[in-house]
Amino acid sequence: MKNIIIDSHCDTALKLLSGSNINSNTNQFTLNNALKYDKYLQFFAMYIEPEYVKDGEYDLCNRLIDLVKNEVYNNSKYMKIIINKNELEQYFNEKNRRLGVILTVEDASCLEGKIDNLYNLFDRGIRVIGLTWNGKNQIAGGADCSNTNNDGLSKFGEEVVKKMNELGIIIDVSHLSEKSFYDVMKITNKPVMASHSCCKSICNHRRNLSDDQIKLISKNGGIIGVNLYKDFLNIDTNKADIECLVKHIRHIFNIGGKECIGLGSDYDGMNINKVVIGLENNSKLSNLSKYLKRSEFTDEEVDRIMWKNQFEFLKRELK
Ligand SMILES: [Zn+2]
Repeated sequence: MKNIIIDSHCDTALKLLSGSNINSNTNQFTLNNALKYDKYLQFFAMYIEPEYVKDGEYDLCNRLIDLVKNEVYNNSKYMKIIINKNELEQYFNEKNRRLGVILTVEDASCLEGKIDNLYNLFDRGIRVIGLTWNGKNQIAGGADCSNTNNDGLSKFGEEVVKKMNELGIIIDVSHLSEKSFYDVMKITNKPVMASHSCCKSICNHRRNLSDDQIKLISKNGGIIGVNLYKDFLNIDTNKADIECLVKHIRHIFNIGGKECIGLGSDYDGMNINKVVIGLENNSKLSNLSKYLKRSEFTDEEVDRIMWKNQFEFLKRELK
C-alpha cells in the first residue's frame, strides 16, 4: 500500500475567492496536509457559483484559475500544475514532495455559449469539465432538471462534447440529469469521469448514479470518484459513516469492476458537519486506506481506490 492520494474534486478554489489561502486551517483541503503524503494529486474545480458572477461566468472562471495559479506561483516548490501525460509521469517519478494540481471546471455555463472560450480554457490548462451544475445551462440539463428531450444535451452541448473529445478535455458527468448523461454517452468517443458521485441503489439521491450508469461508465473505460458528502451516502445522515462510505466503494467495485473506482472528496464544497466523521480534512484520508484494508480489500485494491485507477485513467486520457 502506498501513501498516495488522487482526488478528483474539491471546491477549495471558491474558498480562495472569499479570501482564504491554500493553507487556511478553516478549509477542509490544505497544501500542508497534502504534503504529508508521498504524492497528492488534487483536481481543483472552478465552480461557477452564481453569487460571484459579476462580469459573466467566463470572467468568474478565469478569476478562479488566476487564484489557483497564483497559489502555485507562490508555492512553486510545493505545487505543480499538470496538463499532459508527460508531466503526469514526471510528477510521479520525481523524488521531492509536491502537490500535483489538475484544473477543472464545474458548470460549463462559463463557456457563455462560445466554442472559442473552450479553446481558451484549454490553453489556460483546464483538463476536465463538468458540463452542468444541478440546473440547466446552454449545454445540458443538470440533476434538478426533468428527463425530457428539452433538458438533455443541446445542439451546442453536442458541439462542446465533440470538441472536448478532440482537444483531450475529460467530460465530467457528475451533475448531469439522467437524460443528459445518456445523451453524452451516445456521442462521446472518449471515456468519461463522474468526479464526485455515489450510488443511487444505496442512497436514492438525484446526484447519485444508478447501477446502469455505473456499468456504462465502466464499460466505456471511465472512472467514478466517490464523494464524502453525508447526504449522498445515506438518506438518514446519522448513519452516513465511514462504513457506509465503504459500502458505496464496494458497490461500485462490484458493479463497475475494480478499475473504475476512485476518490472525489468534494472537500470545501460542504459544511464540516456534512463530511463523513473521521475524514473531516485531507490529513485524514489515510484513515480511509486503513479502514478499507480492515474491510478486506487487498493492498493492491486499496491502492487502486486511493489513487492508482485515477492515475491510469489520466495517463490514458491526458494527451
Ligand atoms: Zn459538485
